[in-house]
Amino acid sequence: MSPVGAGPGAVRPRDDIALLAGYHSPQLDVAVRLNTNESPLPPPPAFTEAVAAAARSVAWNRYPDRQAAELRARIAARHGVTADQVFAANGSNEVLQCLFLAYGGPERGAAVFEPTYALHSHLARVTGTAVVEAERDDDFTLDPVAAATLIDSVRPALTFLCSPNNPSGTVAPRATVASLLAAVGSSGGLLCVDEAYAEFSPHSALELVDAETPVVVTRTYSKTWAMAGARLGYLIGPAWVVAELEKVALPYHLDALKQAVGLVALDYVDEMQARVDAIVAERNRLSDRLGGLPVDVWPSGANFVLMRPRHRGAAEVWQQLVDRSVLVRNCSSWPRLDGCLRVTVGTPEEDDRLLAALEEILA
Ligand SMILES: *Cc1c(COP(=O)(O)O)cnc(C)c1O
Repeated sequence: MSPVGAGPGAVRPRDDIALLAGYHSPQLDVAVRLNTNESPLPPPPAFTEAVAAAARSVAWNRYPDRQAAELRARIAARHGVTADQVFAANGSNEVLQCLFLAYGGPERGAAVFEPTYALHSHLARVTGTAVVEAERDDDFTLDPVAAATLIDSVRPALTFLCSPNNPSGTVAPRATVASLLAAVGSSGGLLCVDEAYAEFSPHSALELVDAETPVVVTRTYSKTWAMAGARLGYLIGPAWVVAELEKVALPYHLDALKQAVGLVALDYVDEMQARVDAIVAERNRLSDRLGGLPVDVWPSGANFVLMRPRHRGAAEVWQQLVDRSVLVRNCSSWPRLDGCLRVTVGTPEEDDRLLAALEEILA
């Protein structure tokens, strides 16, 4: 017999959580997976060997280094900052969550420029932060004057700029980032540039980070480093922001093996760069070839391309691709992305398979 009142629904979640759907990307068993912006290639075999060796020397009975000091120092050295300007977490998603825990919450707002990475507004809602949605232009670029005006008037605690932007691939010009930063600075907020795809892109906002300026840049091992399975990401920003994030992260949130894996990866920068260069070249080839099909394609600075079939519905094309064992992301239910599909750059063989399938479907 169950206790009185037990069972589903007896304990109600917070009202603002009850209506939320989780953030998921449907997975299917297909031959060609181009739906979650992973690297099509794994890290080199030498990396895997070094990880195995690192696993053997983990002191499993001990808590890990709570400060992740060595990992932060190595990441800092890579970017020419100090270790106290680096905050590492379980994927850049956890970095973003910590930003909300420290700077968001009731009575505070977070500005996002739609269409963009859905997790920013999702985490805002989860933490009870008001979402201020501004719109990108039709070509998914950002009007810096309109954006600055909005920031001046709502004064959000957090402003998120995703560049290259997921899902459109749009790279924000340096001047746009600078004018957002000026507006954020004068309204007492923090600008977070989500650079999950920075290495695929021509420039970065990292050069704006210093000891005082209210800007942070988030990075991930998931895309560039071909390590989505490791769940590791980090933020570069002023030390005073990092200190606040450390207060809200769980103690020992970065396990010992993950810290070791993150360090090992940094020994393979050249291999990473070669992979990134190959993916960029392949992205350009894929964009060109898509340009020859009856689809709209937007310029991308990331490892994916957004497209919209001109004469066919996205759901129909998505299903017909699945029927041919190719999985892409159907974005058509996302704000402003009616009819759009997002395609991760795969290996040339995978992309050829996608292109052949599309040619058949759109003929
Ligand atoms: C993939 C992605 C992330 C998530 O990265 P994790 O480090 O895997 O949590 C963050 N931001 C954007 C824009 C992404 O596309």
